[in-house]
Amino acid sequence: MTDTADKPIAFLDLAAQQKRLGAGLRQRVDAVFEHCRFVMGPEVFELEAKLAEWCGAKECVGVSSGTDALQIVMMAENIGRGDAVFLPAFTYTATAEVPLVLGATPVFVDVDPNTFQIDPTHLKARIQAVRAAGKLTPRAIVGVDLFGQPAPWQALRTIAQEEGLFLLADCAQSFGANLNGAPLGREATATTLSFFPSKPLGGYGDGGAILTDDPERADLYRSLRTHGEGKTRYQVLRTGMNGRLDTLQAAVLLAKLEHFKDELARREAIACAYDAGLKESVQVPARVPGSESAWAIYAILLKNSAEREALQARLKEHGVPSAIYYPLPLHKQPAYEPHHDGAALPVSEDLAERILALPIHPELTEAEVARVIAAVRG
Ligand SMILES: *Cc1c(COP(=O)(O)O)cnc(C)c1O
Repeated sequence: MTDTADKPIAFLDLAAQQKRLGAGLRQRVDAVFEHCRFVMGPEVFELEAKLAEWCGAKECVGVSSGTDALQIVMMAENIGRGDAVFLPAFTYTATAEVPLVLGATPVFVDVDPNTFQIDPTHLKARIQAVRAAGKLTPRAIVGVDLFGQPAPWQALRTIAQEEGLFLLADCAQSFGANLNGAPLGREATATTLSFFPSKPLGGYGDGGAILTDDPERADLYRSLRTHGEGKTRYQVLRTGMNGRLDTLQAAVLLAKLEHFKDELARREAIACAYDAGLKESVQVPARVPGSESAWAIYAILLKNSAEREALQARLKEHGVPSAIYYPLPLHKQPAYEPHHDGAALPVSEDLAERILALPIHPELTEAEVARVIAAVRG
């Protein structure tokens, strides 16, 4: 406890972030208060164009959250009762929640023990098992770029094509990452983003977007985000939802996008410092070959849950925050367990016992990064 005089380090520091962003942020927000077009104002369309440009996608549709983005994409494919949606067991709850809300069944797939990404071999086996059981119709695969690194997209595309399944990329944690030199955002037929404040490109509230190269699907997404409207506002063509991106969030995100490249570089520098400082003491995250992570989360692996508990306690004493993403694989969550077919998912279960996330945000100072490293090494 040599450093109790030091102030606790923040896991996420939105106040310091606002200070760093400076006047540009206030100007963007003030402009919205001036024009008062709080719903579908010009900032929404400006942001959509800039996000599409960032990754080279043809279309971008701003929506109310990453969860609603997933829902709109699945509604557009008419995914519902009797359908199976394949997704990793080790991910955030929203990925599994949406198929269930639509009456479909999530089918959990295990992940790679080193990269934590969905395991294509197990995915193939799960699809075949569902076909053989004959109860559900396989419809879609959701690839999740967990913690900011890419899912195995090449393999997922091959499987989706062979099996005739829709491929959706849940890019909630990975917008800003690259694969083979290209920004993520065009790996699947549709890609969903989240702007929840803790994501690499986070707003100051909820928000999300859908990217696609298919103009017909983009039109469908636009209709679905506004109550299924047609060419005029009072023509209702289909059952939709209130899923629009708020103008104020778009304004915040436009201001933040100006700093996004620098923030990604800072996250990468912190990850490199952690790698170098920690690799002798704990298992540091494996890099997906050919990729640059967006570093939504920097997660280390301990030997077992007792070791993790002891480390968390020691970090706390030193004012170093840590978090567990995720303490339970989804098939073990009370809400999802009844929908799980009982398949063994040992890697997801093992990771949930041993994983620990360290702070990684652009506001961390060099001194704080050094403090985190020293505290983990003990
Ligand atoms: C955050 C997240 C979502 C949901 O995004 P919200 O904007 O919070 O609704 C979906 N999938 C993954 C993998 C996420 O991390």
